[in-house]
Amino acid sequence: MAQTMVTREDIERGLAGLGIDGGVEVHSSLSAFGRVEGGADAVVDVLLSSFPLVMVPAFTWGTLAAAPDGVRIERNGRKPGGRRRHYQHEWTPIAFHKDMPAAKSMGVIAETLRRRPGALRSTHPTHSFAAVGADAEEVLATAGPDRPLAPIEALVERGGWILMLGTRLTSCTALHASEHLAGRNFFIRYSVDESGNLFRIRAPGCSRGFENFDAVLDTIKREVQIGDARVRAYPGSEFFRLSVEAIKRDPRITVCSPECVSCADMLAGGPVERGTAGDNDR
Ligand SMILES: [Zn+2]
Repeated sequence: MAQTMVTREDIERGLAGLGIDGGVEVHSSLSAFGRVEGGADAVVDVLLSSFPLVMVPAFTWGTLAAAPDGVRIERNGRKPGGRRRHYQHEWTPIAFHKDMPAAKSMGVIAETLRRRPGALRSTHPTHSFAAVGADAEEVLATAGPDRPLAPIEALVERGGWILMLGTRLTSCTALHASEHLAGRNFFIRYSVDESGNLFRIRAPGCSRGFENFDAVLDTIKREVQIGDARVRAYPGSEFFRLSVEAIKRDPRITVCSPECVSCADMLAGGPVERGTAGDNDR
């Protein structure tokens, strides 16, 4: 079967049909559209001409380090000894820097926006965002080692929207911000600075259960089809109100499966520190 061909005009028309009147936090899949004339650059061009502020995830995993010796953290989203050993033996963590490429799973549209001249980036080692447009600097500056997702909250405070371009809610990081707003504690992770010193960060957990929010958010959803892509948009303040209410009403809504350690630990209240020797907070 021939691939659906999508033009710049198709994308412009589709996005205009959503009636979005603010900045956007975008999760995207280029291949979900079919074949886009002009590729990711065309999509980024249309996003930038359609919205005053465009922000994308630019997450990076090579910056993750093992916890220092003597630090024992329970309920921290991992099987004891599991991935920690992996970090120690299979890679040397690298210090975050603003020019490092985003993980492939962010998609080529996000990476293309990150590389645009004038794109700014927040500085959280694992969960940074890239943004172009009005207030980008102020929005991104809200992030800190313990507040990776503050830029999403800042964008929403400015009337921003959550935009899913052919992606499922399982990749919707804004729902982790909802977890934070509902009072949950993100997991404790470590990264390294340029001198190799460890420092502590917070990072959200599992999102594989997030399609459970589809029904909750249905009443505020705006949806269009662009090529083969299902495109969904949510006004951010309503998105937070409904999703936070849903988490408080039924905390299990975020859980992907009964076997998931990350989901279970998050549900139980998040990390608890036992040993503190060698803790190397910045
Ligand atoms: Zn899970």
